[in-house]
Amino acid sequence: MAQNTSIQYLKGIGPKRAKSFALRGINTIEELLYYFPRRYEDRTNFSNISELKEGDFYTIKTEVLSGGQRNSWRRRAFSITEAALADKTGKINCVWFNQPYLKEYLETGASLILYGKVEMYNGRMQMNNPEFEFIDCEDDDSLNIGRIVPIYTLPQGFSQRSMRQLIKNAIDEFLPKIKDYLPFDLRSRNNLLNLAQSLLNIHFPQELTLQKQALMRLSFEEFFIFQLPLVLRKLRRKEKKGIRHAIDGKLIDDFISGLPFKLTSAQQKVLEEIKTDMASGQAMQRLLQGDVGSGKTVVATLACLIAIQSGYQAAFMVPTEILARQHYTKITAQLAGLVFSGCKIRVGLLTGQDKEKEKIYQEVKEGEINLVIGTHALLQEELRFKALSFTVIDEQHKFGVGQRALLPKKGNNPDVLILTATPIPRTLAITLYGDLDISVINQLPAGRIPVKTLHFSQQGREKGFTIAKEELNYGRQAYIIYPVIEESYALDIAGAKKMFVELREGEFKGFRLGLIHGKLKAKEQQEIMLKFRNKELDLLVSTTILEVGIDIPNATCMIVAYAERFGLSQLHQLRGRIGRGNLQSFCILISDAQTEESRARLQAMVSSSDGFRISEEDLKIRGPGEFFGNRQHGLAELKLANSLTQMQLLKAARQEAIKLLSQDARLEERPHQLLKEKLLQRFPEYEKLMLVG
Ligand code: ADP
Ligand code: MG
Repeated sequence: MAQNTSIQYLKGIGPKRAKSFALRGINTIEELLYYFPRRYEDRTNFSNISELKEGDFYTIKTEVLSGGQRNSWRRRAFSITEAALADKTGKINCVWFNQPYLKEYLETGASLILYGKVEMYNGRMQMNNPEFEFIDCEDDDSLNIGRIVPIYTLPQGFSQRSMRQLIKNAIDEFLPKIKDYLPFDLRSRNNLLNLAQSLLNIHFPQELTLQKQALMRLSFEEFFIFQLPLVLRKLRRKEKKGIRHAIDGKLIDDFISGLPFKLTSAQQKVLEEIKTDMASGQAMQRLLQGDVGSGKTVVATLACLIAIQSGYQAAFMVPTEILARQHYTKITAQLAGLVFSGCKIRVGLLTGQDKEKEKIYQEVKEGEINLVIGTHALLQEELRFKALSFTVIDEQHKFGVGQRALLPKKGNNPDVLILTATPIPRTLAITLYGDLDISVINQLPAGRIPVKTLHFSQQGREKGFTIAKEELNYGRQAYIIYPVIEESYALDIAGAKKMFVELREGEFKGFRLGLIHGKLKAKEQQEIMLKFRNKELDLLVSTTILEVGIDIPNATCMIVAYAERFGLSQLHQLRGRIGRGNLQSFCILISDAQTEESRARLQAMVSSSDGFRISEEDLKIRGPGEFFGNRQHGLAELKLANSLTQMQLLKAARQEAIKLLSQDARLEERPHQLLKEKLLQRFPEYEKLMLVG
């Protein structure tokens, strides 16, 4: 097709307009055809003004009775343009803020299409800031009236009319030449419209049912193209030889019977899934989702022991030094009494700061250390294993995709377990992690009491402090979290320090307070954490470095200052630091939330403590693109498809991807040629993937 034809080829596109398109990522005809409307207006039937109801959105066709402009009495620079409009059935007022140029157009008698929400003002119907479009040549205006009309997000310098005309020209000229790269049999199996029909009807639908079909086909296509590389990666992996582990053995039995608790049935189920993978001759790549506090660490530790009892080594990577140290201490203690073929199990700790790292390198290389726990420091080239067969990546969202892939390279196709405490709905997990197998721990250990979450304003914060003090008086401990945002790091740390001093001299006088933040040396951080763990401190003022993993069950209270500055999932992670024992815990959010979004976040926190619910809520508030940040940019490429609502379609697309690649992984057969081209255009790295194996 016109894949690479520049849009400058189109009539009416000069360098200037091409530039404003380029700003929206549109350079070619194909990209223009894939620039979809933001919404539609049914202009076959307009609503009558007499039938409008307050609070609803309408499209109406009106004539200008009078128009004018005045400056706001409040602020000079603020202009208000008003118009009285009417159709045959009634009148309505419209108001636009700060669009003074509008006045020129609001000539009495001009025809105008309006779209907006009807509100009541001084007892009369009014639309505020409605979208509008003038109709000047009604006779021959088949693109803009008397049909379902697309509404676009406009590049600079375009009107809806000029945009429609341009896309119509592109369609007329290029659609006849377009070839569908989805194979015919795939389309007919899934009742998908062909590409030309779909593009035509997504822009200029003849009727709404056709628009729906077009949407379905184009969403399917997005899912499908997105799944292909994931599925291929998964198939390729299954072809690689993995390590067959000895899954049944005395070591893990001894470990389990030494635990002070019984594994939950969810933990047991997941352990079985992991065992099956580890026993098989294919390399494992498994994502383990589980809410904060659901007990993922112990499952991962068991998997490490399977590697060890099979005569291999394991590596456990975590994002922070504090967490590395915590895991190291806990796991060392848990393994203390265990013996494997006459020897004790040796655990090593490797972080950026270690003076002993040369020694650790040596011992790992010689196989004397069975399990090494550490931060990114594990990725250093100097660390070489004698026989690495299993790796864990904890809190995976804190690592980049590239980093996650590095650790396993230190072994010969070791099994990989990836842990995440931000559980996401299954379909979304498939969309993003379709190359992994997925396990879920959907249950908390018995006896956990849900954390009580309360929200106080700045003014009412004393009430929150009172709750905290009560907890401290019972001999329990508390955290106060202060937001630190990257850009203003130094400033925020200063804020945290100031608050620490104020609290120590004021509200919490008489208690033992500590302060911890990312600017402290690792050694100082350790000392403070150790003191807190040993109950030599009652209250720890901290930045978000405590966000992940920290496990101190005696801490039963957390105060979050300026809670509006945290994201929802982050708040949930923070809250996961308390409620880890059998005591009632309290999370106190202090915030004068201003925006609707921040209020929604705090409300979600107060009303739910379930991580799955929270992340769904977060996804709703922020949308998947924001939710995952830049790291998972792939999701942003889904322009139409929605993993949350189009579950069936996603599943169908994935099934088709598996079917296709199982039979023609390199897309060499003739009917797959176009698809291959398209795929390589979107994912150039796919070429390499296709060639291996
Ligand atoms: P996360 O899944 O957030 O990483 P952890 O693995 O840190 O959670 O576990 C949280 C706490 O629960 C730890 O103190 C751990 O020892 C404890 N724990 C784990 N499994 C169980 C269980 N089955 N019963 C009781 N406590 C458990
Ligand atoms: Mg954890």
